[in-house]
Amino acid sequence: MIVRPRIRGFICTTAHPTGCATLVKRDFDCTELQEGGPRNVLVLGASGGYGLASRIIAAAGYGAATLGVSFEKAPAGKRTGSAGWYNTRAFDAIATARGLKSHSIDGDAFSDEIKSEVCEVLADQFGCIDLLVYSLASPVRQHPRTGELYRSAIKPLGAPVDSRTLDIHTGQVTETHLEPATDEEAHNTIVVMGGEDWEYWIDALAGKNLISERFQTVAYTYLGSELTWPIYHKGTLGRAKEDLDRAAEAIRGKLGSGQDARVAALMATVTQASTAIPVVPLYVSILFKVLKERGVFESTILHIERLFRARLYGEVGRETDETGRLRLDGIELRREIQSEVARRWAQANSQNIHDLSDLEAVREQFLQVFGFAVDGVDYDAEQDIFDAPKV
Ligand code: NAD
Repeated sequence: MIVRPRIRGFICTTAHPTGCATLVKRDFDCTELQEGGPRNVLVLGASGGYGLASRIIAAAGYGAATLGVSFEKAPAGKRTGSAGWYNTRAFDAIATARGLKSHSIDGDAFSDEIKSEVCEVLADQFGCIDLLVYSLASPVRQHPRTGELYRSAIKPLGAPVDSRTLDIHTGQVTETHLEPATDEEAHNTIVVMGGEDWEYWIDALAGKNLISERFQTVAYTYLGSELTWPIYHKGTLGRAKEDLDRAAEAIRGKLGSGQDARVAALMATVTQASTAIPVVPLYVSILFKVLKERGVFESTILHIERLFRARLYGEVGRETDETGRLRLDGIELRREIQSEVARRWAQANSQNIHDLSDLEAVREQFLQVFGFAVDGVDYDAEQDIFDAPKV
């Protein structure tokens, strides 16, 4: 069938098989092989955004065997699969064709069943892992011990927030009012996006002796600046991310010397998860333009390549901030970048948004998350939605 984008708010309900596969291959091809990295890598949240980029860098950049876990929708009837479903199939095909061991599991990473399945696959096919990347972004978590279903809420804490946001499809800049989270909503967000599940993973893997002597684990956070703090860093999500810092310290306490657990603070980018956060579309649209004008813009894949090269396996070494985090967000947070973003933020409206921001690039990147707007792909060609095509 012919697959077109069908956009509903901040989500596209269709995904393009050839477009998704083409982007995975493009990132594979632009990655150079380097020495001294991990050999066996487990990526949780491996089908999109930062998790997929991490898996590609581990495989294409260091020749690692990778086991990826994600939770995606398979195609059914006339409905396409989700983008992550095609990305994962494309990844497995490309990695295997290049002689790299690759195995993917689709299921709920929060569950005990998937943890057991991963441990079995590692024990049978991989052996100990050197690196666990924790890159889940989910609005819900069924707690494995109680069965209770928790939903996260992206809200401010303490007081309501009036801010601005951008509809990337219409270019409308509007005011948005967000009521503060209740205590229960704040708590539930920590249960979903905090560090407890990361700790459960380490316990499960270490309990089966599946972590190597040089094992490292990294979970991703976003800190941002004053523009996004009311919604993010000082809101429910930021509270949950603080819990990741707690978990990192707790995990470090359980690991041996030569092993490590770190939270890495990454730059804002366009992914399925991030476009759902109010204010992020306006912020990244302005940020991207300012970064590009100064020649310091990094794509998602290059950002993760730098994390591996300069922090995890690095030439620069294990520099951390006062909380023990690996910082990759220094460029985004430079004073001159942030003051220019703040200046444009204050002026932005629906008329001048194209001049002040890189709205077109953000719109394109949003479409690319679902395999659309990819150069060289024939969008009038028939697609077999039940498989990822060879590219
Ligand atoms: P994404 O939406 O692109 O990817 C999320 C991944 O999680 C997907 O692979 C999805 O299948 C998987 N997933 C969700 N629920 C799952 C479940 N129950 N079981 C198994 N897999 C599940 O998200 P992203 O933006 O790349 O975010 C990844 C991490 O990076 C998050 O912790 C996020 O907070 C962090 N981060 C994101 C940004 C950003 O701007 N996007 C910036 C800094 C940090």
